[in-house]
Amino acid sequence: MSAVETLSALVLGHTDYGDNDRIVQLITAEKGRISAIARGARSSKRRFKGCLELGSRIQATVRRGKGELWQFQAAELVHGHPHIRGFLESIALSAYCCEVVRETGRPEQPEPKLFGLLDVALLVLDACTEPPKAGFRIGFEAKALSFAGLTPVLTQCAGCGEAAQGPMVWSVRGGGMTHESCGAGPKLDPAWGQAVEAFRRTPLAELVDTEAPAGGNQWLLSELMIWHQGRPLRSRELLITLGTV
Ligand SMILES: [Zn+2]
Repeated sequence: MSAVETLSALVLGHTDYGDNDRIVQLITAEKGRISAIARGARSSKRRFKGCLELGSRIQATVRRGKGELWQFQAAELVHGHPHIRGFLESIALSAYCCEVVRETGRPEQPEPKLFGLLDVALLVLDACTEPPKAGFRIGFEAKALSFAGLTPVLTQCAGCGEAAQGPMVWSVRGGGMTHESCGAGPKLDPAWGQAVEAFRRTPLAELVDTEAPAGGNQWLLSELMIWHQGRPLRSRELLITLGTV
């Protein structure tokens, strides 16, 4: 039988299984993205109290089961980020951050940077006295793309590699900003790319009061992610509806 391991983990989501169980998606530094079955999670409210909620930081004691599914032996709550629940925008944003990591995190490979990014993002959201401005979310997207090996091209042309000059376009196929003659997509100002590149290099805690940069659509990074994954980001729709983050 496989060894029991204790992993620091963040909960990325869950689905009910059978009458009593729950399959939980986790991101860990050591094992990347894994799924683990929590037996009895729905029949006993005490056994995993607070540990399986979206975004919870836990110590997960798990054992590898058959195939790719792990089995929970126990879980201990490290941080439940209770203040995020004070604002609908923050709840939606934390769900979005978890979904982005669920979509970009690789299974069964170390992901210390993505794990650290989401850990910090949730702690910053929990500490905010009001929902952060859009700069926080755009900075998170730029960092997540980079850590997933999909660093967006923001300060030059992704097609020909020359300097960004005049009106540019956002080419998801090209991996970022291109000259109009080198790619196709919505128009943007080179200054937008410069600003987002600065967000990519700025700690998230310093972006909470930063507005979206002018000169381009504020959802372009998420368009790149969606194109790469070939699936929509479901929690993005609520953020767009809320309009502020
Ligand atoms: Zn070009």
